[in-house]
Amino acid sequence: MAAGLATLLLLPRDGLIDPASVDLQEYFRPDQLERAADFRGLQRLLGLAGIALSGLTLAVLALWPPRPVRAALERAGRRPLLGAAAVAVGLSVTVGVVELPLAIWRHERSVDFGLANQALGPWLVDFAKATAVSAVYAGVAGLLAMAIIRRFPRNWWLPGAGLVVAVAVVMVYVQPVLVAPLFNDFEPVRGELRAEVTRLADRAGVDVGEVYRVDASRRTNAINAYVGGIGHTKRVVIYDNLIDDHDPAEVRSVVAHELAHVHYDDLPKGLLWVALVAPAGMFLVQRLAERFARGGLGGPGRPGPAALPAVVLGFALVSFALGCAGNVLSRQVEARADAYALALTDDPRAAIALDRSLALRNLSDPDPPWLYRTLFSTHPPTVERIGFGVAYERERAAERRSGGGDP
Ligand SMILES: [Zn+2]
Repeated sequence: MAAGLATLLLLPRDGLIDPASVDLQEYFRPDQLERAADFRGLQRLLGLAGIALSGLTLAVLALWPPRPVRAALERAGRRPLLGAAAVAVGLSVTVGVVELPLAIWRHERSVDFGLANQALGPWLVDFAKATAVSAVYAGVAGLLAMAIIRRFPRNWWLPGAGLVVAVAVVMVYVQPVLVAPLFNDFEPVRGELRAEVTRLADRAGVDVGEVYRVDASRRTNAINAYVGGIGHTKRVVIYDNLIDDHDPAEVRSVVAHELAHVHYDDLPKGLLWVALVAPAGMFLVQRLAERFARGGLGGPGRPGPAALPAVVLGFALVSFALGCAGNVLSRQVEARADAYALALTDDPRAAIALDRSLALRNLSDPDPPWLYRTLFSTHPPTVERIGFGVAYERERAAERRSGGGDP
């Protein structure tokens, strides 16, 4: 209910375009559609299987821990806070590693289809780095969570919600300056593109922060751009693949979309959504954890690290469900950014060409199955995004015919 209310509160209502209905056959050849369906079909199943496997592992560790795990949890109880950090690191690494075979399979398929261009060796190095970063976050979160649970054994959900929000804000803040550079090189955009970005940003009335070009081409042929960071670390990042292989008008469309996110403060509002949902979410986490841990969290006395797997399982279940709920907001926010970009550039042809290229280069399914899209898609499907461009174009044509049409 909290997620529904927060979503209703933050859901964009204005500045949206009703998408025209689009026949994908007009934009993609049958073999292109078939190739995307081939790739995404199994890729989706492998992704879901990975989530299920990680979830099941977590459930086993929390509900039916094997004897050596129980012994390790007991040892961790001797120094509760450091023990909790160690247990959290152990859980994070275990859950990541059980999924590794499926992740390798997904990666190999990406290479086979020409999406990824990274050999398995360097990919595994990336995987190890990502696992290490997650482990650091998990360790810090585990320690702080244990401190809060021990200090407020009955009502840790409330300070816990504060912790969740604080961690989310810190993660968004440090991600671009501490984490992203571990994986890629970022170079400030200069020259004509920088001037173009500045012109668009002035028209959008936003302060973009810095604009970076990232060497995404070292591991993928996909194209993308994103807004990251908050405050001093706010930035727009554009993939080198996109800048190098596309018409300037299409790059302008991407930049305009990202500027829309800055214009509407979509990232801070995303954090606000988390803050609104966190108290109810953590309340549910506490109730689930108490049930999973049977007999309360860790028996008599103050709860210790042995209770942590139950807390993490509760947290994983709740955040998975909330993530699906949050995607409703995300899709609408993305639709509004598309509409804003169309108005800012007044170039629907470039926007449509970009949507097409995004789908082709990224091998996305332009029209994913309804249930999958509803639960997991953060963006509207390609068929809708092209529909925004077509609808905008029709409206502008009608305006011109009726003698108006001041952009
Ligand atoms: Zn976006």
